[in-house]
Amino acid sequence: MNSTELATFMFGHVGIVIGNIVDQQVDAIVNAANSSLMGGGGVDGAIHAAGGPQILCECRELRRTCYPQGLPAGQSVITSGGNLPAHYVIHTVGPVYGRNAGRDAELLAACYRNSLAVAMQHNLRTIAFPAISTGVYGYPRAEAAAVSSEAIQAFLGSEKSLDNVRLVFYQRADAQIFLQNHRFTYP
Ligand code: ADP
Repeated sequence: MNSTELATFMFGHVGIVIGNIVDQQVDAIVNAANSSLMGGGGVDGAIHAAGGPQILCECRELRRTCYPQGLPAGQSVITSGGNLPAHYVIHTVGPVYGRNAGRDAELLAACYRNSLAVAMQHNLRTIAFPAISTGVYGYPRAEAAAVSSEAIQAFLGSEKSLDNVRLVFYQRADAQIFLQNHRFTYP
């Protein structure tokens, strides 16, 4: 499927795209995973279906070695991209909206910040995010737009080595909500 770029921010470093996350030709795509890291629906299901068994195999190993209790919300881990066009998948666990004692925004921002930090640690230059937590996890799209854009701008303000951060929306209407509610202050 083709992707359509609707807008850019941060002097061209951030692109707002309509498309399927699994089709993105970037160094890493981000998975809106759940803490089990064992796959699920939505983005998670699409990534494992398109990427093949290698990704799940690496997730199992991460669970066994580093996260026997599961990956906590707000944290990020990396695996290879299996059969995907992207070389890596960065798995992050978004907050389930309204279940975090007022810490939803803090945890959602951490997902973006920690995923960008993992990308940097692996010398990656291009990364594509889905709208984390805005599906099954129920985060209102307008609120998520404000949180994600602020987190990305803050990160890119201090770290200059990421060339391109792509925010991928499955549906045009979702991208429009993002564009009406983002807080990027640089064009
Ligand atoms: P979460 O459990 O974090 O809410 P979901 O996977 O349910 O994650 O949904 C996150 C967002 O990703 C939703 O806005 C959903 O519409 C969108 N989405 C679902 N599948 C895809 C896909 N293949 N590519 C891009 N975005 C997707």
